[in-house]
Amino acid sequence: AERRRRAAAVIEEVERSLATPTALLRGIADAMVAEMERGLRGDIHAQLKMLISYVDNLPTGDEHGLFYALDLGGTNFRVLRVQLGGREKRVVKQQYEEVSIPPHLMVGTSMELFDFIAAALAKFVGTEGEDFQLPEGRQRELGFTFSFPVNQTSISSGTLIKWTKGFSINGTVGEDVVSELSRAMERQGLDMKATALVNDTVGTLAGGRYMDTDVVAAVILGTGTNAAYVEHANAIPKWTGLLPKSGKMVINTEWGSFKSNKLPLSEYDKAMDFESLNPGEQIYEKMISGMYLGEIVRRILLKLAHDASLFGDVVPTKLEQPFILRTPDMSAMHHDSSHDLKTLGSKLKDIVGVADTSLEVRYITRHICDLVAERGARLAAAGIYSILKKIGRDKVPSSGSKMPRTVIALDGGLYEHYKKFSSCVEATLTDLLGEEASSSVVAKLANDGSGIGAALLAASHSQYG
Ligand code: ADP
Ligand code: MG
Repeated sequence: AERRRRAAAVIEEVERSLATPTALLRGIADAMVAEMERGLRGDIHAQLKMLISYVDNLPTGDEHGLFYALDLGGTNFRVLRVQLGGREKRVVKQQYEEVSIPPHLMVGTSMELFDFIAAALAKFVGTEGEDFQLPEGRQRELGFTFSFPVNQTSISSGTLIKWTKGFSINGTVGEDVVSELSRAMERQGLDMKATALVNDTVGTLAGGRYMDTDVVAAVILGTGTNAAYVEHANAIPKWTGLLPKSGKMVINTEWGSFKSNKLPLSEYDKAMDFESLNPGEQIYEKMISGMYLGEIVRRILLKLAHDASLFGDVVPTKLEQPFILRTPDMSAMHHDSSHDLKTLGSKLKDIVGVADTSLEVRYITRHICDLVAERGARLAAAGIYSILKKIGRDKVPSSGSKMPRTVIALDGGLYEHYKKFSSCVEATLTDLLGEEASSSVVAKLANDGSGIGAALLAASHSQYG
């Protein structure tokens, strides 16, 4: 009974500190809009970097030819080739391969990482079949999706600002990532030119637009989180170049680094941040994305184990190990709807090492997963809402004209596979928008849109015009 009382006290405190009432989400969205504006002005203290992508035209459907793409984002990277057939034939053929990055390369040297990538790419190029056609005398071209913050200097060059998501490699920050890749390709004897360097959000936006012309923004919910959207070029005070003909510019918000005293930051978040590779940074990302959700749950369960002997008299040592509880496992536990929570029980056995857990302990565990996932999903929805506010698609026009159909392309393993998470994002967005506006807004899964998007942007920026 005493244990139960103590568990209840911890849970109550967790519920309180993770709460995201709708009014709070509105305040967070307003704070994000203000930070976006600061970023667009070039304020060096702005939390949202609002990076200029140099993409001022999104794919039209006319793209033609063979193009490659390489997507380096989190734990995996993907290589892809696509034969584009123009307006009539669209994507004629597409092939991809996924390669996981050995963990030691994520914290090794720049050269090792890029050599590994270029080698995998060269191998993939070696398997190109007859049904892919490169015109005589042409060099193969590549769109490089690189999902880390980059100060872009042109469509095909940019320097790394910082590593995130568990990458920590000396000597890459400040370097041009396209030259790093090009040199590695040369070392592999691979004759290929990267004609577009894009963030995964920008790639997803491009891929999404190719599929649906009403796409205005893209959001990634995967290992990390980020968003890009189409801005009016004249609403970017820091842009000093010529105004693009289209009048538009795609902005990579880098919203993962958002932080605000409005964010419901608990003791668990603070401790996780403190012990992370990048303390004080990517606070919004750490509350939302796949790399961290399971870890937050682990920390809460550990507290329950300590304070309320949730898993018996001794605290299971495995539970003390950071990142032992991964978000896909959390998702599996959360989705267990069996009467005895059997899946959840066996997950606890595998991960925490406790063989028989009572039904009550399993319910508590599921409840913790629910609290952490719901907070993340609701905060993500507030972010999407802030972009809609920024571009004036958050409400029906006051002129009385109809609100244009507005599509957000979403991608990332978290959004794709964690159903309760994605439904909560959508429900919260509907709630924030209200009935009328939400009927014009569609959240659409753009599965692996970023790879094809990068290939499309490589095509529209081809050296052969
Ligand atoms: P990245 O963000 O690294 O480019 P993905 O978009 O594929 O790659 O996202 C991978 C992330 O998605 C994983 O780190 C994991 O956190 C999350 N994820 C993958 N599968 C699931 C799942 N079944 N349930 C919850 N989260 C998942
Ligand atoms: Mg990715």
